[in-house]
Amino acid sequence: MSENQKYRVLLYYQYVHIEDPEEFAINHLAFCKELGLKGRILVATEGINGTVSGTWDQTETYMNEMKKDPRFETMVFKIDEADGHAFKKMHVRPRPELVTLRLEDDIDPHQITGKYLNPKEFYEAMQDENTVVLDARNDYEFDLGHFRGAIRPDIETFRDLPNWVRENKQQLEGKKILTYCTGGIRCEKFSGWLLKEGFEDVSQLHGGIVTYGKDPEVQGELWDGQCYVFDQRIAVPINQKEHVVVGRDYFDGTPCERYVNCANPECNRQFLCSEENEHKYMRSCTDECRVHPRNMYIKEHGLTEEEVQERLSSLKKEVAMN
Ligand SMILES: [Zn+2]
Repeated sequence: MSENQKYRVLLYYQYVHIEDPEEFAINHLAFCKELGLKGRILVATEGINGTVSGTWDQTETYMNEMKKDPRFETMVFKIDEADGHAFKKMHVRPRPELVTLRLEDDIDPHQITGKYLNPKEFYEAMQDENTVVLDARNDYEFDLGHFRGAIRPDIETFRDLPNWVRENKQQLEGKKILTYCTGGIRCEKFSGWLLKEGFEDVSQLHGGIVTYGKDPEVQGELWDGQCYVFDQRIAVPINQKEHVVVGRDYFDGTPCERYVNCANPECNRQFLCSEENEHKYMRSCTDECRVHPRNMYIKEHGLTEEEVQERLSSLKKEVAMN
């Protein structure tokens, strides 16, 4: 394959003032479409956050053009090689916040944020005795992979994290706190919030998990599982030295790194599940979802009412036997 046929995925953000996010979004969408990129970009008065995919040439042009804009000249692009596009469409959306925290007092990372640690520093800090490593992502992201020994906040969305911290203070008080997230954007605000909340020693993994995995020295060491990403790839490898599977099948608890979405379109819950169990449980997280009138699995496989009933009763029998 020649250079210009290869694809790449770019992940990037910049906290910088954007005067008119609505207008910026319209122009930027036209620009991305003209280049042939696909992806998802959020724009707010506080900055930009994007993931886009395209050919080597398309992504190269995009990065060069962006860096001509003084607002983005120092922006760091995390680059992954890919076999094709990682998105189906191109969206640029204006938003009130880049990452939804909805704090009563918003955090400006330029004013207050945790210490930036590079991968090597983070690797060393993790092994310090008085340190707690706090995952700043959602529960389903943690479940696919995380730093060994990290705390898993029991949250489904980022905006629940501050409350979780307040309710679980005792795990963090008096400790050196290390936070991390996929690309670093969530920690910029979250670590700032932790400082404001009164925690004194707060550091963040600069560039996030994806940068940690590419670092030539640490090579992703102490990362278990894979890293959840918000595009069609879903999971990317991080630890180049060893691969410990931490994901567990939703139904039988066996090691698993395969995500599916619940076949009930109103639920759409994402869970880990083997191919075998996908069929056995009709890719549905509960009995309720299994019998939902618009169940996608039933539609895709053209199951008759009788066949559905048969599967449901064999599942019930199994439950009764255990
Ligand atoms: Zn469901």
